[in-house]
Amino acid sequence: MAFSFFGGIHPKENKHYAEERSVQAFPAPDVVVIPMSQHIGAPCKPLVKKNDIVTKGQKIGDNQGLCVPVHASVSGKVKAVEARPHTNGSTVMAVVIENDHQDTLCPDIQPRTKEQVDALTAEELVSIIREAGVVGMGGAAFPTHVKLSGAIGKADTVIVNAGECEPYITADDRLCQEMPEEVVSGLQIAMRILGLKEGHIGIEDNKPKAAAALKNAAIGTGIIVDVLPAKYPQGAEKQLIYAITKRQVPSGGLPAAVGCVVINAATCKAIHDAVYKGMPLIERIVTVSGDIVMEPKNLMTPIGTSFNEMMEACGTSENPYKVLSGGPMMGAAQFDLSVPTMKAVNAITILGHANNFYVEEPQCLRCGKCIEACPMKLVPVLMYKALFTNDPEEMKAVHMMDCIECGCCAYTCPACVPLVLGFRSGKHIIRTAAAAAAAKK
Ligand code: SF4
Ligand code: SF4
Repeated sequence: MAFSFFGGIHPKENKHYAEERSVQAFPAPDVVVIPMSQHIGAPCKPLVKKNDIVTKGQKIGDNQGLCVPVHASVSGKVKAVEARPHTNGSTVMAVVIENDHQDTLCPDIQPRTKEQVDALTAEELVSIIREAGVVGMGGAAFPTHVKLSGAIGKADTVIVNAGECEPYITADDRLCQEMPEEVVSGLQIAMRILGLKEGHIGIEDNKPKAAAALKNAAIGTGIIVDVLPAKYPQGAEKQLIYAITKRQVPSGGLPAAVGCVVINAATCKAIHDAVYKGMPLIERIVTVSGDIVMEPKNLMTPIGTSFNEMMEACGTSENPYKVLSGGPMMGAAQFDLSVPTMKAVNAITILGHANNFYVEEPQCLRCGKCIEACPMKLVPVLMYKALFTNDPEEMKAVHMMDCIECGCCAYTCPACVPLVLGFRSGKHIIRTAAAAAAAKK
């Protein structure tokens, strides 16, 4: 069976920099900065204050509504509760902890036996996942307990996204090679919550070792490992669903609209850790890679470690042109490298000046390459034109909100038109207009 989707591109994968590097524990830094907003939804309110003593894994922030708690990734003393830079370019409230290097574990963290886990109800499992602060770790950062509980009785298919189609990033590849049982176990827990006997793991054919490890771990579980041809953006939710099920998520719709739930591979491990180890999400694998990185690495990193420290541990051969949180296609450029790693930061990509494709006043050539590349079947050239109207209705009319910001159009554009950058700001204009209209009602 051929798995694929419309459009897409084949950028240089550049996985070779880090794919053979085993996951290494990054030494816990002297200070961690834990942002209160690491997920989609309401930011957490700090539960600690300056000079409080905290333990590793202790809940230090929470809120009501669409929210998951955050936890201390080290034990030590709270140095400050204050606004700090965030990878999204803003500043957000954060708890700054001075590490005492004692690794004193929070007494609430208690592992469970298989028998204890088997006795848990779906509601109890959802509650454990929430309390552990689990979110979508592929970049979306949507609270996982909400995704799963909202799909109970509606979803008939659960898919683990192990696609990792962005160039340079190898964090999930290494995770699936080195900890396939945890990934499979997390998926089994999701299947139990959803009442499903069958689950899928989607992975690209450029990760044969990880695919083999997952297949081995999945024997006898009812889990199918779907090996898909490598094509960007195979790891995008809608493209993955189409490739595996041939179901098309409608415009503006969520995967649940076609009976699907998609969970990232790292999220599966976090679910496993929460349920079996009682461990909240306080560390994750981060790939530090790029064309000027001296020693690319996959680092198991405490949440709250600064980009600066991780970059220093890997070294660069020249002053970076660009440092991205994430990969080169969808990542966000960082201007303040004191920003901390967070739950959904899977990579720090450091690029040299050879990657500078900036063009002063680029002119569209009307070549149509962007249309062929768009996996959402959009017309980027028209969307770009709509931006100049500054009219949110015009932008909506060309389906700008359906843009998944994959960057395929900008990658193929021979005129270097900054398409994605424009679409991000266009979407912001649409959202702001919608919020203003709602406030008037
Ligand atoms: S960034 Fe948006 S418009 Fe461009 S190819 Fe991706 S989905 Fe299409
Ligand atoms: S690829 Fe670039 S130059 Fe070609 S039509 Fe699209 S925006 Fe214009």
